[in-house]
Amino acid sequence: MLQPHELKLEDMGDLGEIIPGPEPTLIAQRNAIPQFGAPARRPIIPVCEPWLAGNELKYITEAVETNWISSAGGFIHRFEAMFAEKMDARYGVACMNGTVALHLALATLGLEPGDEVIIPTFTMIATANAVTYLGAKPVLVDSEPGTWNMDVEQIEAKITARTKAIMPVHTYGHPVDMDALNAIAQKHGLFVLEDAAEAHGAKYKGRAVGSLGDAACFSFYGNKIITTGEGGMVTTNREDVARLAWNLRDHAFSTERHFWHKFLGYNYRMTNLQAAIGLAQTEQLEKFVAARRANGAYYTAQLRRVPGIVTPPEAAWASNVYWMYGIILKEEFGLTRDGLRQALARRGVETRTFFIPMHCQPIYFDQYRRERYPVAEDLCRRGLYLPSASGLTREDIDAVVAAIWESREEVGAK
Ligand SMILES: *Cc1c(COP(=O)(O)O)cnc(C)c1O
Repeated sequence: MLQPHELKLEDMGDLGEIIPGPEPTLIAQRNAIPQFGAPARRPIIPVCEPWLAGNELKYITEAVETNWISSAGGFIHRFEAMFAEKMDARYGVACMNGTVALHLALATLGLEPGDEVIIPTFTMIATANAVTYLGAKPVLVDSEPGTWNMDVEQIEAKITARTKAIMPVHTYGHPVDMDALNAIAQKHGLFVLEDAAEAHGAKYKGRAVGSLGDAACFSFYGNKIITTGEGGMVTTNREDVARLAWNLRDHAFSTERHFWHKFLGYNYRMTNLQAAIGLAQTEQLEKFVAARRANGAYYTAQLRRVPGIVTPPEAAWASNVYWMYGIILKEEFGLTRDGLRQALARRGVETRTFFIPMHCQPIYFDQYRRERYPVAEDLCRRGLYLPSASGLTREDIDAVVAAIWESREEVGAK
């Protein structure tokens, strides 16, 4: 039987100190009738929730009424075409989720055991796992404090004769400096796969993420900017990559003989039901992105007055879509990340800690035992994100900011 990788915090040395405590219990607020002028308070403000106010129900009803509920049907093609177009990409390959989108895109490279793929250590586990599934090795790079993204200047030192690809992650909706990254990739003949799972609609120098490398991957999980419940897509401008990804997605059936397989394929197909929701969501992308950016700006304006809070970055060349509105706590804030999370949970405000870096994960710890990534570790130690849904109202944000002030006052912070 498979055994879990047990990793005790005591055995991690000083790295143990950055690992978050247990999840705090959210306490729903009794929604007393608001005073005149005071904002009504929701019992719980969740960190993220979907917004299904467009044609979702209409399209999914159409799929059921026409009997097209599996992985053939018109919504798949319409969703792939519209989503890819909005990402400035020629092709879209819809699939079951963001993780398999990464797996599928990497599978087109024909990686072999011992091959290396460069990724940031500060990311969600799927980035590293997609590489590991193919028997290749994720090679880690630290973040840079300016954008919280992979430090492009540290990539070149990690390139070896076995390196095949670079996977930048547009963390929390902020794009990576792709021109600098692509220059390195070009010089060394490496494939560039954007992990854009958190950055639908983000722009780099006016260009959409999802079209800035050889291929890109998106997730449509319930908390992503566009959702299909579960879902994912590979976008690319390369016809060879798109054709192979479409084929590998569908068991790699051959055109000359159906049950004749020349590649190790997968069943990673998306259903027409998911695509129906995805098309309706994609029609509203501009609305969602505008809401996220307006909410991000409003949060930042309110939080700038709170001592010891670092608000999220936006480089001059970037348009951040604030998939998650992250903050970093400095000493003068008066509470630790876990302390603030508990105080907010008692006030019905849900939060999440930042990623735990890959080199600190029970499944990867031994593989990277002697490696340290101080910027990623510091982000993990001090970062958390606040409620960030596209449908968040000004009243919700006011309530979150008020809860942050109260949390500080409770511990007597100046
Ligand atoms: C959400 C996410 C994924 C995985 O997407 P799923 O649809 O949950 O499989 C991959 N990479 C990053 C950076 C993500 O945030």
